[in-house]
Amino acid sequence: MAGEDLYEKLRQIINRGVLVRLPKHRATYELLKGIFSEEEARLLTAFQKPNQPLNSSAIAQLSGFPEDEATRILDEMAYKGKILRVGSFYVLLPFVPGLFEVYFTHDRDDPERMAKAAKAYRELFYSGHPFELSAGKHPIYRVIPAVEPVKKTIEINKTLGLERQVLPYEILEEYLSKANLFAVIPCSCRNAAKYAGEPCKRTKENFCVAVGLLAKSVLDQGIGRQVSFEELMEIMKRAEKEGLVHETINIQEMAAFICNCCPCCCGFLKSVKELRNYGAICKSNFAPVINNDLCKRCDKCMKICPMDAIYHHYPHSEDLSDDMMVVREDLCIGCGLCASNCPNGAVILKKVRDSVPFKNQAEMEEQVKAGRMH
Ligand code: SF4
Ligand code: SF4
Repeated sequence: MAGEDLYEKLRQIINRGVLVRLPKHRATYELLKGIFSEEEARLLTAFQKPNQPLNSSAIAQLSGFPEDEATRILDEMAYKGKILRVGSFYVLLPFVPGLFEVYFTHDRDDPERMAKAAKAYRELFYSGHPFELSAGKHPIYRVIPAVEPVKKTIEINKTLGLERQVLPYEILEEYLSKANLFAVIPCSCRNAAKYAGEPCKRTKENFCVAVGLLAKSVLDQGIGRQVSFEELMEIMKRAEKEGLVHETINIQEMAAFICNCCPCCCGFLKSVKELRNYGAICKSNFAPVINNDLCKRCDKCMKICPMDAIYHHYPHSEDLSDDMMVVREDLCIGCGLCASNCPNGAVILKKVRDSVPFKNQAEMEEQVKAGRMH
Protein backbone atom coordinates (compact mmCIF):
# COMPACT_ATOMS: atom_id res chain seq x y z
CA MET A 1 0.00 0.00 0.00
CA ALA A 2 1.33 3.45 -0.88
CA GLY A 3 0.31 7.06 -1.53
CA GLU A 4 -3.14 8.33 -0.54
CA ASP A 5 -4.45 4.82 0.32
CA LEU A 6 -1.71 4.40 2.91
CA TYR A 7 -2.42 7.78 4.55
CA GLU A 8 -6.17 7.13 4.44
CA LYS A 9 -5.58 3.90 6.35
CA LEU A 10 -3.43 5.77 8.86
CA ARG A 11 -6.12 8.47 9.22
CA GLN A 12 -8.69 5.81 10.06
CA ILE A 13 -6.41 4.23 12.67
CA ILE A 14 -5.59 7.60 14.28
CA ASN A 15 -9.32 8.43 14.48
CA ARG A 16 -10.44 5.19 16.12
CA GLY A 17 -12.22 5.84 19.45
CA VAL A 18 -10.89 9.40 19.91
CA LEU A 19 -12.56 12.71 20.81
CA VAL A 20 -11.19 14.87 18.01
CA ARG A 21 -10.95 13.19 14.59
CA LEU A 22 -9.28 14.10 11.32
CA PRO A 23 -11.65 14.49 8.35
CA LYS A 24 -11.41 12.77 4.99
CA HIS A 25 -9.91 15.87 3.39
CA ARG A 26 -6.99 16.60 1.09
CA ALA A 27 -5.35 18.72 3.82
CA THR A 28 -5.45 15.76 6.23
CA TYR A 29 -3.37 13.71 3.79
CA GLU A 30 -0.97 16.64 3.35
CA LEU A 31 -0.69 16.92 7.13
CA LEU A 32 0.01 13.21 7.61
CA LYS A 33 2.45 13.17 4.67
CA GLY A 34 4.22 16.17 6.20
CA ILE A 35 4.71 14.38 9.51
CA PHE A 36 5.18 10.75 8.43
CA SER A 37 7.30 9.40 5.57
CA GLU A 38 5.75 6.46 3.68
CA GLU A 39 8.08 4.10 5.51
CA GLU A 40 6.95 5.48 8.90
CA ALA A 41 3.28 5.40 7.89
CA ARG A 42 3.59 1.76 6.77
CA LEU A 43 5.09 0.83 10.11
CA LEU A 44 2.30 2.61 12.01
CA THR A 45 -0.42 0.64 10.24
CA ALA A 46 0.56 -2.16 12.65
CA PHE A 47 -1.47 -0.29 15.30
CA GLN A 48 -5.22 -0.74 15.48
CA LYS A 49 -5.90 2.51 17.33
CA PRO A 50 -4.20 5.30 19.29
CA ASN A 51 -3.03 4.76 22.87
CA GLN A 52 -2.46 1.03 22.27
CA PRO A 53 1.03 0.07 23.48
CA LEU A 54 2.92 -2.35 21.21
CA ASN A 55 6.54 -3.48 21.38
CA SER A 56 8.85 -3.35 18.39
CA SER A 57 8.72 -7.08 17.68
CA ALA A 58 4.89 -7.01 17.44
CA ILE A 59 5.04 -3.90 15.24
CA ALA A 60 7.69 -5.48 13.02
CA GLN A 61 5.67 -8.67 12.66
CA LEU A 62 2.40 -6.87 11.89
CA SER A 63 3.96 -4.46 9.39
CA GLY A 64 6.38 -6.87 7.70
CA PHE A 65 9.54 -4.91 8.65
CA PRO A 66 12.70 -6.65 9.95
CA GLU A 67 12.73 -6.08 13.73
CA ASP A 68 16.01 -4.13 13.94
CA GLU A 69 14.85 -1.85 11.12
CA ALA A 70 11.47 -1.33 12.82
CA THR A 71 13.17 -0.49 16.15
CA ARG A 72 15.45 2.06 14.51
CA ILE A 73 12.54 3.83 12.77
CA LEU A 74 10.32 3.72 15.88
CA ASP A 75 13.05 5.20 18.10
CA GLU A 76 13.67 7.97 15.61
CA MET A 77 9.94 8.73 15.45
CA ALA A 78 9.75 8.83 19.26
CA TYR A 79 12.73 11.22 19.37
CA LYS A 80 10.94 13.55 16.95
CA GLY A 81 7.63 13.41 18.84
CA LYS A 82 5.68 11.49 16.19
CA ILE A 83 4.85 8.65 18.60
CA LEU A 84 5.51 8.02 22.30
CA ARG A 85 7.96 5.52 23.71
CA VAL A 86 7.10 4.17 27.15
CA GLY A 87 9.77 1.70 28.33
CA SER A 88 9.98 -0.94 25.60
CA PHE A 89 6.53 -0.03 24.21
CA TYR A 90 5.53 2.42 21.51
CA VAL A 91 2.23 4.30 21.42
CA LEU A 92 0.45 5.89 18.47
CA LEU A 93 -1.15 9.20 19.49
CA PRO A 94 -4.60 10.61 18.72
CA PHE A 95 -4.35 13.82 16.69
CA VAL A 96 -5.57 16.34 19.33
CA PRO A 97 -4.74 16.36 22.15
CA GLY A 98 -1.75 14.21 21.25
CA LEU A 99 0.22 14.11 18.01
CA PHE A 100 -0.14 17.81 17.18
CA GLU A 101 1.08 18.95 20.59
CA VAL A 102 3.87 16.38 20.99
CA TYR A 103 5.21 16.81 17.44
CA PHE A 104 5.32 20.61 17.50
CA THR A 105 6.58 20.78 21.09
CA HIS A 106 9.48 18.42 20.30
CA ASP A 107 10.36 20.57 17.27
CA ARG A 108 13.00 18.02 16.20
CA ASP A 109 11.90 17.08 12.69
CA ASP A 110 13.21 18.39 9.39
CA PRO A 111 11.99 22.05 9.20
CA GLU A 112 10.59 21.46 5.70
CA ARG A 113 8.42 18.62 6.98
CA MET A 114 7.27 20.69 9.94
CA ALA A 115 6.37 23.60 7.67
CA LYS A 116 4.42 21.30 5.34
CA ALA A 117 2.48 19.85 8.29
CA ALA A 118 1.86 23.29 9.82
CA LYS A 119 0.55 24.74 6.55
CA ALA A 120 -1.71 21.72 6.02
CA TYR A 121 -3.04 22.11 9.55
CA ARG A 122 -3.79 25.78 8.90
CA GLU A 123 -5.76 24.74 5.80
CA LEU A 124 -7.66 22.18 7.87
CA PHE A 125 -8.38 24.87 10.47
CA TYR A 126 -10.00 27.16 7.91
CA SER A 127 -11.84 24.19 6.40
CA GLY A 128 -13.75 23.85 9.68
CA HIS A 129 -11.73 21.23 11.58
CA PRO A 130 -12.12 23.19 14.88
CA PHE A 131 -15.87 22.41 14.86
CA GLU A 132 -14.75 18.91 15.78
CA LEU A 133 -13.76 20.51 19.12
CA SER A 134 -17.37 21.48 19.77
CA ALA A 135 -19.06 18.42 18.27
CA GLY A 136 -19.62 16.85 21.67
CA LYS A 137 -21.81 19.60 23.22
CA HIS A 138 -19.46 19.76 26.22
CA PRO A 139 -16.21 21.73 25.72
CA ILE A 140 -13.04 19.75 26.36
CA TYR A 141 -11.04 22.84 27.29
CA ARG A 142 -11.72 25.50 29.90
CA VAL A 143 -10.49 28.94 30.86
CA ILE A 144 -8.96 29.49 34.30
CA PRO A 145 -9.19 33.17 35.26
CA ALA A 146 -6.13 35.31 35.98
CA VAL A 147 -4.55 34.92 39.43
CA GLU A 148 -4.85 38.30 41.19
CA PRO A 149 -8.43 39.19 40.10
CA VAL A 150 -9.70 35.91 41.56
CA LYS A 151 -7.92 36.62 44.86
CA LYS A 152 -9.60 40.02 44.88
CA THR A 153 -13.00 38.44 44.21
CA ILE A 154 -12.50 36.18 47.22
CA GLU A 155 -11.47 39.17 49.41
CA ILE A 156 -14.51 41.19 48.32
CA ASN A 157 -16.80 38.24 48.98
CA LYS A 158 -15.33 37.94 52.49
CA THR A 159 -15.89 41.61 53.28
CA LEU A 160 -19.48 41.25 52.11
CA GLY A 161 -19.89 38.28 54.42
CA LEU A 162 -20.57 35.96 51.49
CA GLU A 163 -19.51 32.36 51.51
CA ARG A 164 -16.38 31.75 49.45
CA GLN A 165 -18.19 30.83 46.23
CA VAL A 166 -14.93 30.44 44.31
CA LEU A 167 -14.02 26.77 43.98
CA PRO A 168 -10.50 25.26 44.11
CA TYR A 169 -10.39 24.36 40.41
CA GLU A 170 -11.17 28.03 39.61
CA ILE A 171 -8.14 29.31 41.53
CA LEU A 172 -4.99 28.66 39.52
CA GLU A 173 -2.71 28.63 42.57
CA GLU A 174 -4.84 26.11 44.45
CA TYR A 175 -5.38 23.99 41.37
CA LEU A 176 -1.65 23.77 40.60
CA SER A 177 -0.71 23.18 44.22
CA LYS A 178 -2.09 19.62 43.87
CA ALA A 179 0.89 18.70 41.66
CA ASN A 180 4.55 18.34 42.59
CA LEU A 181 6.49 18.52 39.32
CA PHE A 182 6.32 21.23 36.66
CA ALA A 183 8.17 21.78 33.39
CA VAL A 184 7.93 24.86 31.21
CA ILE A 185 7.88 23.65 27.61
CA PRO A 186 7.65 25.21 24.13
CA CYS A 187 4.10 25.88 22.93
CA SER A 188 3.02 23.54 20.13
CA CYS A 189 0.45 26.01 18.75
CA ARG A 190 2.99 28.85 18.53
CA ASN A 191 5.59 26.55 16.95
CA ALA A 192 3.05 25.39 14.38
CA ALA A 193 2.06 29.00 13.65
CA LYS A 194 5.73 29.91 13.22
CA TYR A 195 6.25 27.06 10.73
CA ALA A 196 3.10 28.13 8.88
CA GLY A 197 4.63 31.60 8.46
CA GLU A 198 2.40 33.40 10.99
CA PRO A 199 4.42 33.79 14.21
CA CYS A 200 2.70 34.72 17.47
CA LYS A 201 1.80 38.38 17.84
CA ARG A 202 1.79 38.35 21.66
CA THR A 203 4.93 36.59 22.91
CA LYS A 204 8.21 34.91 22.05
CA GLU A 205 8.66 33.27 25.47
CA ASN A 206 7.81 29.64 26.34
CA PHE A 207 4.77 29.62 28.59
CA CYS A 208 3.20 26.16 28.35
CA VAL A 209 3.48 23.96 31.41
CA ALA A 210 3.60 20.17 31.67
CA VAL A 211 2.53 18.83 35.05
CA GLY A 212 3.24 15.65 37.04
CA LEU A 213 3.93 12.53 34.94
CA LEU A 214 3.89 14.49 31.68
CA ALA A 215 6.48 16.88 33.16
CA LYS A 216 8.68 13.90 34.08
CA SER A 217 8.29 12.41 30.63
CA VAL A 218 9.25 15.60 28.74
CA LEU A 219 12.14 16.38 31.10
CA ASP A 220 13.46 12.81 30.61
CA GLN A 221 13.45 13.49 26.87
CA GLY A 222 15.49 16.67 27.32
CA ILE A 223 12.57 18.98 26.57
CA GLY A 224 11.62 21.98 28.68
CA ARG A 225 12.90 23.21 32.01
CA GLN A 226 11.87 22.13 35.49
CA VAL A 227 10.53 24.98 37.63
CA SER A 228 9.50 25.27 41.27
CA PHE A 229 5.92 26.10 42.26
CA GLU A 230 6.99 29.65 43.20
CA GLU A 231 8.69 30.23 39.85
CA LEU A 232 5.69 28.73 38.10
CA MET A 233 3.35 31.26 39.70
CA GLU A 234 5.69 34.07 38.62
CA ILE A 235 5.56 32.68 35.07
CA MET A 236 1.76 32.59 35.20
CA LYS A 237 1.62 36.24 36.23
CA ARG A 238 4.11 37.18 33.51
CA ALA A 239 1.94 35.34 30.99
CA GLU A 240 -1.00 37.50 32.08
CA LYS A 241 1.04 40.65 31.51
CA GLU A 242 1.74 39.42 27.97
CA GLY A 243 -1.98 38.94 27.40
CA LEU A 244 -2.08 35.13 27.56
CA VAL A 245 -5.10 33.17 28.79
CA HIS A 246 -4.72 30.26 31.25
CA GLU A 247 -6.42 27.17 29.85
CA THR A 248 -6.54 23.50 30.63
CA ILE A 249 -8.56 20.34 30.07
CA ASN A 250 -12.14 20.75 31.31
CA ILE A 251 -11.74 18.56 34.40
CA GLN A 252 -11.54 19.13 38.16
CA GLU A 253 -8.68 16.69 38.71
CA MET A 254 -5.17 17.95 38.07
CA ALA A 255 -4.66 17.98 34.29
CA ALA A 256 -1.40 16.98 32.61
CA PHE A 257 -0.78 20.51 31.32
CA ILE A 258 -1.72 24.16 31.64
CA CYS A 259 -1.50 26.33 28.54
CA ASN A 260 -1.04 30.08 28.38
CA CYS A 261 -2.82 30.90 25.16
CA CYS A 262 -3.06 33.69 22.64
CA PRO A 263 -5.94 34.23 20.21
CA CYS A 264 -3.59 34.24 17.20
CA CYS A 265 -2.15 30.71 17.61
CA CYS A 266 -4.22 28.65 20.09
CA GLY A 267 -6.58 26.38 18.12
CA PHE A 268 -9.31 26.81 20.74
CA LEU A 269 -9.25 30.60 21.21
CA LYS A 270 -8.56 31.27 17.54
CA SER A 271 -11.53 29.15 16.50
CA VAL A 272 -13.84 30.91 18.97
CA LYS A 273 -12.66 34.31 17.78
CA GLU A 274 -12.27 33.76 14.04
CA LEU A 275 -14.78 30.98 13.32
CA ARG A 276 -17.37 31.85 16.02
CA ASN A 277 -16.90 28.32 17.32
CA TYR A 278 -18.33 29.29 20.72
CA GLY A 279 -18.72 25.70 21.92
CA ALA A 280 -14.99 25.00 21.62
CA ILE A 281 -14.12 26.31 25.05
CA CYS A 282 -15.76 26.51 28.44
CA LYS A 283 -15.76 30.12 29.63
CA SER A 284 -14.69 30.67 33.23
CA ASN A 285 -17.47 31.38 35.72
CA PHE A 286 -16.43 35.05 35.97
CA ALA A 287 -17.05 38.29 34.11
CA PRO A 288 -15.44 41.70 34.59
CA VAL A 289 -17.12 44.71 36.15
CA ILE A 290 -15.56 48.10 35.37
CA ASN A 291 -15.74 50.87 37.94
CA ASN A 292 -16.11 53.98 35.82
CA ASP A 293 -15.11 56.25 38.73
CA LEU A 294 -11.68 54.59 38.92
CA CYS A 295 -11.28 54.05 35.17
CA LYS A 296 -9.05 56.57 33.36
CA ARG A 297 -10.15 55.46 29.84
CA CYS A 298 -6.59 54.43 28.96
CA ASP A 299 -7.89 51.61 26.70
CA LYS A 300 -5.35 49.10 28.05
CA CYS A 301 -8.05 46.55 28.88
CA MET A 302 -9.52 46.93 25.40
CA LYS A 303 -6.15 46.36 23.74
CA ILE A 304 -5.20 43.32 25.83
CA CYS A 305 -8.58 41.57 25.70
CA PRO A 306 -7.97 38.43 23.60
CA MET A 307 -11.57 38.29 22.39
CA ASP A 308 -12.13 41.97 21.52
CA ALA A 309 -14.87 41.90 24.14
CA ILE A 310 -14.29 45.45 25.45
CA TYR A 311 -14.92 48.66 23.58
CA HIS A 312 -14.52 52.31 24.41
CA HIS A 313 -17.89 54.03 24.26
CA TYR A 314 -16.88 57.56 23.28
CA PRO A 315 -19.15 60.24 24.77
CA HIS A 316 -22.23 61.56 23.09
CA SER A 317 -23.38 63.74 25.98
CA GLU A 318 -22.13 67.26 26.75
CA ASP A 319 -21.02 66.34 30.28
CA LEU A 320 -19.05 63.27 29.02
CA SER A 321 -20.88 61.07 31.54
CA ASP A 322 -21.27 58.32 28.94
CA ASP A 323 -17.53 58.15 28.19
CA MET A 324 -16.95 54.59 29.39
CA MET A 325 -15.48 51.17 28.71
CA VAL A 326 -18.11 48.55 27.93
CA VAL A 327 -17.76 44.78 28.28
CA ARG A 328 -19.57 42.57 25.78
CA GLU A 329 -20.46 39.61 27.95
CA ASP A 330 -21.50 37.60 24.88
CA LEU A 331 -17.89 37.66 23.64
CA CYS A 332 -16.14 37.60 27.03
CA ILE A 333 -14.61 34.25 28.07
CA GLY A 334 -13.91 35.35 31.65
CA CYS A 335 -10.11 35.19 31.42
CA GLY A 336 -9.62 38.18 33.74
CA LEU A 337 -6.78 39.70 31.69
CA CYS A 338 -8.56 43.06 31.65
CA ALA A 339 -8.61 43.03 35.47
CA SER A 340 -5.01 41.89 35.92
CA ASN A 341 -3.73 44.50 33.46
CA CYS A 342 -5.75 47.55 34.49
CA PRO A 343 -3.21 50.07 35.88
CA ASN A 344 -5.89 51.73 38.02
CA GLY A 345 -7.52 48.74 39.70
CA ALA A 346 -10.79 49.66 38.00
CA VAL A 347 -11.79 46.13 37.00
CA ILE A 348 -12.96 43.36 39.29
CA LEU A 349 -14.36 39.94 38.46
CA LYS A 350 -17.76 38.77 39.59
CA LYS A 351 -19.04 35.24 39.49
CA VAL A 352 -21.74 34.98 36.83
CA ARG A 353 -22.09 31.25 36.14
CA ASP A 354 -21.84 27.95 37.91
CA SER A 355 -20.52 25.63 35.26
CA VAL A 356 -18.71 22.66 36.78
CA PRO A 357 -15.87 20.84 34.98
CA PHE A 358 -16.02 17.06 34.57
CA LYS A 359 -14.59 15.16 37.53
CA ASN A 360 -11.81 13.53 35.52
CA GLN A 361 -10.60 12.66 32.03
CA ALA A 362 -12.57 9.38 31.86
CA GLU A 363 -15.87 11.08 32.69
CA MET A 364 -15.15 13.84 30.19
CA GLU A 365 -14.39 11.42 27.36
CA GLU A 366 -17.51 9.36 28.05
CA GLN A 367 -19.81 12.41 28.17
CA VAL A 368 -18.28 14.14 25.17
CA LYS A 369 -18.53 11.00 23.02
CA ALA A 370 -22.11 10.35 24.15
CA GLY A 371 -23.10 13.92 23.30
CA ARG A 372 -21.63 14.06 19.80
CA MET A 373 -23.87 15.81 17.30
CA HIS A 374 -21.96 14.56 14.24
S1 SF4 B 1 -7.40 49.46 31.71
FE1 SF4 B 1 -8.51 50.16 33.49
S2 SF4 B 1 -8.26 52.37 33.48
FE2 SF4 B 1 -7.69 51.67 31.45
S3 SF4 B 1 -9.59 51.81 30.27
FE3 SF4 B 1 -9.53 49.74 31.08
S4 SF4 B 1 -10.65 49.82 33.00
FE4 SF4 B 1 -10.16 51.92 32.42
S1 SF4 C 1 -13.39 41.25 28.73
FE1 SF4 C 1 -11.77 40.26 27.56
S2 SF4 C 1 -9.97 40.34 28.91
FE2 SF4 C 1 -11.76 40.77 30.18
S3 SF4 C 1 -12.33 38.78 31.02
FE3 SF4 C 1 -13.54 39.08 29.16
S4 SF4 C 1 -12.37 38.07 27.53
FE4 SF4 C 1 -10.98 38.36 29.27
